[in-house]
Amino acid sequence: MATDYDAPRKNEDEVNEDSIEELKNRSTNRQSAVVDEDEAEAAEGFELPGADLSDEELQVRVLPAQNDEFTCGECFLVRHRSQAIDRGDGTLICADCEG
Ligand SMILES: [Zn+2]
Repeated sequence: MATDYDAPRKNEDEVNEDSIEELKNRSTNRQSAVVDEDEAEAAEGFELPGADLSDEELQVRVLPAQNDEFTCGECFLVRHRSQAIDRGDGTLICADCEG
């Protein structure tokens, strides 16, 4: 009985250790390979327009609204100018807030 208990336990341990180590090796190998490829591709894609894009991105982020847009004085959502309605005191509000 003792051998019956020991035999399967040892085998299970060995199998588990082997498979875990195998999985670790495989996953690390796969991950590093994938990351290397992605980083190389990303670097290639970003290097070309990098300098120009940073300026454009900053300008877009600073501007609260485009030329054809306005910020509603009631709900503060950016809406298209065609929806702008003068509330009467110079504040532009959107059609939703006006109605
Ligand atoms: Zn509004």
